[in-house]
Amino acid sequence: MNAEIIAVGTELLLGQILNTNAQFLSQKLAAIGMNMYYQTVVGDNADRLRSAIETAQQRADILIFTGGLGPTKDDLTKETIALAVGSSLVYNDDALRSIEEYYARTGRTFTENNKKQALVLEGSVVFPNDHGMAPGMGLRRDNKTYILLPGPPKEMRPMYDSYVEPFLLPLTSKETLHSRVLRFFGIGESQLEETLQDLIDTQTNPTIAPLAAEGEVTLRLTAKHASKDEANRLIDNVERAILDRVGEFFYGYDQDSLQGKLVSLLKKTGMTLASAESLTGGLFSEKITEVAGVSSFFYGGVICYSNEVKQHVLGVPAGVLETDGAVSEASAALLAENVSKLLKADIGISFTGVAGPGELEGKPPGTVFVGIAGKGMKTLVVPLKLWGTRQQIRERAMRYGMYHLY
Ligand code: ATP
Ligand code: MG
Repeated sequence: MNAEIIAVGTELLLGQILNTNAQFLSQKLAAIGMNMYYQTVVGDNADRLRSAIETAQQRADILIFTGGLGPTKDDLTKETIALAVGSSLVYNDDALRSIEEYYARTGRTFTENNKKQALVLEGSVVFPNDHGMAPGMGLRRDNKTYILLPGPPKEMRPMYDSYVEPFLLPLTSKETLHSRVLRFFGIGESQLEETLQDLIDTQTNPTIAPLAAEGEVTLRLTAKHASKDEANRLIDNVERAILDRVGEFFYGYDQDSLQGKLVSLLKKTGMTLASAESLTGGLFSEKITEVAGVSSFFYGGVICYSNEVKQHVLGVPAGVLETDGAVSEASAALLAENVSKLLKADIGISFTGVAGPGELEGKPPGTVFVGIAGKGMKTLVVPLKLWGTRQQIRERAMRYGMYHLY
């Protein structure tokens, strides 16, 4: 079964809102084994919507519309579909009642305009709107299925889950798609692809798809199988083959984040942490404290942006700042060691470097040192040569720090 999403709304075309409905529906439809080859976005315009419908009828079995079910004049999705499929609009008693109730409950006055929302395509299955007024619809006509959903995500999503998926399931093939995302850090996308090229080329079930996000790379493994367990077994096998080659860069699955992994590791080991941030100006602390409940092991940090703070608060001798510089292996080591002592934490991490755009101490932008020091361990300094804008260099440095801590 091929599905096509048609998102209706001029605000989508103008870039005023993001088409998150398409993202949500695509994921849901893939999970029930629906193929999707096209998605359309069209403005609130009857002629162009009509032409989008006609095009989609040529290439999809299931047409899923979001938006334009509301009471205003620019809401014309159901009217246009009615014309395109030769159906008419009729009042739905349940919908009418729930709209009246909604008005009574919120103390607003009901206008004729609002009645329009209770109009449904004749012969359609009506999906109640548990979080708003405009009901959704499912209509089967000439071997095609039309699904109409409201635009607001908080109405559309629960409607999909409660009513639309059960309506669509009997239409789908028994095979469904199951995916797992593997997350990597510290390896570039092209290096990862090269290392796995033969696997990527030959694997068909599951397929392997590389994706790059800011500062990390991910692989999506997608298997098609009627049984979820069997699909997972297929994915496990390929995952093993991948991790045999690039396991040292792997840090987590699906929604895992570096900071989340780091926090659970620290919790498990009972280690406490403090940070000295020059280059990153607090980015690292900000990321760590995104995770709730970290105060028991993340003690805090010093933003040691100026050399005065490096010297007087964190005890980096003036001589080191003069000869080696603030951006140096020696400074990174001292900052990490001293911040752990100052804040009485087991581990100290430091970030010093040149974010750019200009040079600093004769060192080019992207020159970064991350220091990691701790009780009973030899201080580690990771020298990095990063590229990108000022912000990218700072963020990448922060992520490298997390990765090396981890
Ligand atoms: P309403 O009854 O609120 O008018 P509607 O079904 O007529 O709902 P629209 O008028 O098209 O839907 O859109 C209403 C709001 O829903 C938009 O302003 C926007 O915030 C959100 N919305 C619409 N389409 C999308 C989409 N594809 N992705 C994310 N949000 C959307
Ligand atoms: Mg509307």
